[in-house]
Amino acid sequence: MSNGLALGIDLGGTKIYAVVTDKDHHIISDAKVNTPSGKPPEETAAAIAELGRQALASAGTDFASVDGIGVAIPAPVDPETGDCLHATNLGWKNFSMKKIFRELTGREVYFGNDGNLGILAEYHCGAAKGFRTVIGYYVGTGLGGGIMIDGKLHCGNSGLAGEFGHAIIKQGGRRCGCGHRGCAEAYCSKIAFVKELKKKVFKHGMPTCLPAEKFNAQSRNIKSRQLAKAYLAGDPPVCTVINKGAYMLGVAAASAAAIIAPDCIILGGGVISALGEEMYPVFKRSFDDHLFGIDPAKIQIRFTELGDSAVALGATVLARRNGKV
Ligand SMILES: [Zn+2]
Repeated sequence: MSNGLALGIDLGGTKIYAVVTDKDHHIISDAKVNTPSGKPPEETAAAIAELGRQALASAGTDFASVDGIGVAIPAPVDPETGDCLHATNLGWKNFSMKKIFRELTGREVYFGNDGNLGILAEYHCGAAKGFRTVIGYYVGTGLGGGIMIDGKLHCGNSGLAGEFGHAIIKQGGRRCGCGHRGCAEAYCSKIAFVKELKKKVFKHGMPTCLPAEKFNAQSRNIKSRQLAKAYLAGDPPVCTVINKGAYMLGVAAASAAAIIAPDCIILGGGVISALGEEMYPVFKRSFDDHLFGIDPAKIQIRFTELGDSAVALGATVLARRNGKV
């Protein structure tokens, strides 16, 4: 018997987050656990299912009773099969998410890409509500995104639409983790910030107020709030790197606007949560300067309203609509 509730789970790089929502997208209960690192996919899948079970139990329900179950993953989902067989960044290969979750929950579980589901949630119950065509940029460890066209999530060939982080915005530019040069992610993401900061501080000797125990020649990541603190203190390498990132994000968003002509652009992710207001003026000037055709006043640029819950909420929307979004 359906009870109007839905379960959505966000599998992130460091945390797994589960929410149970009612029909109005209100969060009834939630649960969080660290993502098992370096474990086989079966173990991660079992941890996701167990967290979901806990969130459901807190809401007084279970797998069998909810309207639907959705899971967001940091990998493309095949729009034909609704399955994810390869999640290269998780080290998964030939592993059917659909099959194992059917076994773990006894239900058909719907999967979606995390960036796509974040934008889906903002469209249904967040900052993009009421708009028709929306694109979203999520600046975190990497640079993710999503596209809604005329009220429908656009997944594209092999589920790879909205990979704004790998749109090439500077031919022959900085090397990206994907192997290409000049991708947006190589300029505006924490991966990019850390890489550039290391060059400026350890190679060129620029002074920084970043704490040595959090940032050193071996650093691979840094907390957004450390960057925010340094930026607000006027730290020269941090300001240079982040202003360049904001400028390049403006270039990327203006290029995407020339292709998609959105009514609304959503900015989100950990870096935006910590530094969105500060980055905005540089981003907006660059966006307006590079925009073609559309009057900048006709494109609403908004920060996420749903914050860290967006992706899990998007998974509940996907679940309620049986994957038809
Ligand atoms: Zn790339």
